[in-house]
Amino acid sequence: MSGVIIPSDRTSKQQVMGYCLNTECKPNPQTNEYFTFRVDHDRFACPKCGAYKQPYVGVQVLTHLLVQDAKGPIEGDGGLRWKIACDNDRAYLATFTNLEAATRAVEVANCPGCLTNRR
Ligand SMILES: [Zn+2]
Ligand SMILES: [Zn+2]
Repeated sequence: MSGVIIPSDRTSKQQVMGYCLNTECKPNPQTNEYFTFRVDHDRFACPKCGAYKQPYVGVQVLTHLLVQDAKGPIEGDGGLRWKIACDNDRAYLATFTNLEAATRAVEVANCPGCLTNRR
């Protein structure tokens, strides 16, 4: 079996998206946007060109949205409290391996759960 492996500590609450950097797979050759696709199992390949490893295919980084909340589980600078918009109880941001990130900028976040829950 070959293919890209989804990190085991990746959140299971959001759909995993893969990307393919092959220029032949770009949805629109005029833009810099690369082809992305839903990933439903552990080892996957690009559904268009069949590439199945780096440097072409990988798991898209899931960027959560941080919102300020006096009861949030994450403590930030100056003791301000934060929570991740899609998961009120989650007390950590990213790990070295989960391919997740967090931001305060709505325009940078790409987590569908967070973008639905933002205030
Ligand atoms: Zn491809
Ligand atoms: Zn999220």
